[in-house]
Amino acid sequence: MAGVGLTFNKNHYLHDSLLNGFPCPENPFRLKAIMQYLEKNGLMNNGTFTFYEAEKASLSDILRVHTVEYVDLIKACTKDSRLSPGNDVYVCPSSYEVLLQAVGCVLKAGEVVVKDMCDHSFALIRPPGHHAGPDTSSGFCIFNNSGILAKYLRNVYGLDRIAIINIDAHSSDGTYAVFDGDPSVLCISIHQDQSTLYPYRGFIKDIGVRPALGYCINMEMPTESGNPEYEIFYDEVVEKVLLQFDPQIILLECGFDAYYKEPLSKLNLTINGYYRIIFKLASNWNIVTLLEGGYHDDLGLMTSVVLNALVGTDNIEDDVDQIDLLASRHVKTRKEFNNNLALLKMRLEPYWDL
Ligand SMILES: [Zn+2]
Repeated sequence: MAGVGLTFNKNHYLHDSLLNGFPCPENPFRLKAIMQYLEKNGLMNNGTFTFYEAEKASLSDILRVHTVEYVDLIKACTKDSRLSPGNDVYVCPSSYEVLLQAVGCVLKAGEVVVKDMCDHSFALIRPPGHHAGPDTSSGFCIFNNSGILAKYLRNVYGLDRIAIINIDAHSSDGTYAVFDGDPSVLCISIHQDQSTLYPYRGFIKDIGVRPALGYCINMEMPTESGNPEYEIFYDEVVEKVLLQFDPQIILLECGFDAYYKEPLSKLNLTINGYYRIIFKLASNWNIVTLLEGGYHDDLGLMTSVVLNALVGTDNIEDDVDQIDLLASRHVKTRKEFNNNLALLKMRLEPYWDL
């Protein structure tokens, strides 16, 4: 049985918009619900998963991706509530310490995999990171967790072929901004049509810049896309590109907001949809999973689905009647998906054999 490592930033609850007097979907209840679910269902101490304590990250770890001026701004915002860190982002007095601890958990999750202590890992952390660029925060994200980990693995462990895959409903625009000219990091973001969802960036035409043309892939899934469309895209693009790129490790930006119950987006993945993507990835490569978005009531269930997929245990019974779900969809979803897939393949044709 595969070994799966877990990390968790215990101080995350100190990053809470309610401390500033207003509610936000990205709040401590998300991670609290996940931990409660894992505990209640006996996943914390059944011998399958190993929890690893993590040191907080150092400033030099953060500076591999972010500018000094940006980090100073974030620190200043924690001390002066009149300063703003960016759009759709909040900070509290303890947020900087929480962020360093979260990144520390991310680095530890990478380390246990690269040192072969585990086949795969999952960093249960918040806030998320994939919208944060080198000097920008947005969409609840302040430090780019996967970007910092990729640069750490390259600098400290000498990895030179790292893949970052985003399955959050929102595009991984921050990660794209970090690596759009870097052919040693392949970025694939599978997200909702960007004419219909924040951050309105990450279009099919965006495939990176020289010398990394073709090494950033943005797939826009039409609203209501679900398990069949994700499976086709995985088989026809993701797996083929990964087999050619041959990554030494995969960092999975795992948002749970492509789930059919998500209120902030309009995709229709079910637990089997998530399971199949992650099971297929984990069957071929070592995966470091990083928690990104997801703002519905099933975050605990979804986390257990991912953990089971990483371990390779039998699939969990789906809670959705696929026939009903398919019947309720607008017929144009598949047509739009096919058009997007054809357009993307045409864009990627000079760089990958699809
Ligand atoms: Zn999201």
